[in-house]
Amino acid sequence: MFMTTNNLLVKDSSVHGLGLFSSINYNEGQIITTINGELIDADECVRREDDGNVYIFYKDENEYIDASNHAQLKYLNHSCNYNCDIDEDENGNLILFAASEIKSGEELTIDYGYEEIYQYCTCSDCGNKNESISN
Ligand SMILES: [Zn+2]
Repeated sequence: MFMTTNNLLVKDSSVHGLGLFSSINYNEGQIITTINGELIDADECVRREDDGNVYIFYKDENEYIDASNHAQLKYLNHSCNYNCDIDEDENGNLILFAASEIKSGEELTIDYGYEEIYQYCTCSDCGNKNESISN
């Protein structure tokens, strides 16, 4: 049995606007929180994304979690040097876990994993790539 802790806080991010930060240390592989929200299907996901909802998490081909009502997860920013990842636990719940060791005070990030994000990403890898495209 895993205990999910909630040692998260929202504050100014170096990546973008507000971000989600950890107030404790996590070891690689440790569960940070369950991803709760409304379960929707692929069609509904596309419809909501077209409406500008960017807080939808992929579960499987026809199951998506809309976390836009979640107080904290909507502040989880993208990074290509992400320190968190998403998986399913043994009960089929989506969970956010530490993809690497995380120190107290670090911002939590995931790889959003869709094409467009890399055009807006300001990390050194994407920044260099985008510069060479525009030149
Ligand atoms: Zn990047």
